[in-house]
Amino acid sequence: MSLPIKERRRFYIHTLGCKVNQYESQAIRELLAASGFEEAPSKDDADICIVNTCTVTAEADRESKQVIGALGKKNPSVAIVATGCLVEREAAFVALFPNVSHIVRNADKGSIADILKRIQPLPQPRELRVSDFKSRSRAYLKIQDGCRNRCSYCKVCLVRSDLRSKPIPSILDEISILVDNGFKEIVLTGICLGAWGIDLYDKEGFEGPDTNKASLVSVLKAIDKLPGDFRLRLSSIEPKYVTDELIDFIAQNRRICRHLHVPLQSGDDDILRKMNRPYSSSEYMEIINKIKGVIKDIAITTDVIVGFPQETDAMFRNTLEFVRALQPSRTHIFTFSPRDGTAAFKMAGHVSESVMKKRYDELSVIATESAKAYRKKFIGRELEILVETKRDALTGLLNGYSDNYIKVFFEGPNDIMKKIVSVKITAVNEIRTEGEYVR
Ligand code: SF4
Repeated sequence: MSLPIKERRRFYIHTLGCKVNQYESQAIRELLAASGFEEAPSKDDADICIVNTCTVTAEADRESKQVIGALGKKNPSVAIVATGCLVEREAAFVALFPNVSHIVRNADKGSIADILKRIQPLPQPRELRVSDFKSRSRAYLKIQDGCRNRCSYCKVCLVRSDLRSKPIPSILDEISILVDNGFKEIVLTGICLGAWGIDLYDKEGFEGPDTNKASLVSVLKAIDKLPGDFRLRLSSIEPKYVTDELIDFIAQNRRICRHLHVPLQSGDDDILRKMNRPYSSSEYMEIINKIKGVIKDIAITTDVIVGFPQETDAMFRNTLEFVRALQPSRTHIFTFSPRDGTAAFKMAGHVSESVMKKRYDELSVIATESAKAYRKKFIGRELEILVETKRDALTGLLNGYSDNYIKVFFEGPNDIMKKIVSVKITAVNEIRTEGEYVR
């Protein structure tokens, strides 16, 4: 017989999707713990399972539904709380799954503990905050939600709230707690990180000039005044928010990682227009060249979608050649996934799965070559590595990321896990970078 909801105390959180979801799951975990709930070691031991879903691709939808369906089957007495971006658009469908007891909107995630205690939700949803990330070496800090750009393929901007920026005092507070808890790297995340502040300062259409308070640089400047030994990484920033002020600030500030993830999506101008991306390929390249010219050794990572509707072979070749010239240190390649409700969903000229797969493979070769070329430049040099909290399962080696986002494998003692150490790069191949622990 299933337990009444009030008697359920052991919870488990299953998270799908992006860093924002990971941040929000951790915040929910902390709110539940503070409200007297206890985290179960596995789904099977839990009375309540919170599934934080994702809808970024059809695959993410499928996986989210599969997790919810499997949970109910495997543990018939579990109460499932479904939340996240899939729930925003398919709440009615998700609610039909066995054992789903609650459907919680993204904006109400901060009230999950109250909902579970059957307390009236607070008039204002509680702000999500975190202080720990358990077994992780770096902490994600969500400082912004929502996006007003309307990329034609994007479902996320449709299911998230309007722009919502976390005020600077809350950001500083949260970072101080994370740093006190031993985190040496904080990753600032958001659905559209570069748009931080637009809502706070009521500047719709703000484009981030250096004179305005409402820019990400004002957050970075405030964080820079905090004491403590930690470094800061930006998770992803759209090209239009990469201002000269931001570039100069990163160049002058050793606390900020020499790494920018700037989504490209396509190297073909027609496809960029169809995607509703507000730049041409040459404008994108100009921004990247400016960054590389000012910040020595910076890692540029990016996202590319292949097989967007009406992408011809010639257009794909433009992307291929563009990525070859761009030389990103890492490229996340996605095959186009039609998401209903988006403009691209209704576009004619969808590309077949087999062609998308071929393009994916071709681009992967270029991406791998360019990543290796970037990493090779560091052979013989020392990099500051934040050591992960687990050894590599295959080799037993320690591993971690440099500030310029190179994952390095090396031998060393366990007590340097979660710390930043110097590692000399000794070897680079297609998939791995190896090094020697220095100090
Ligand atoms: S910038 Fe584009 S892809 Fe990113 S969240 Fe906004 S609309 Fe979606």
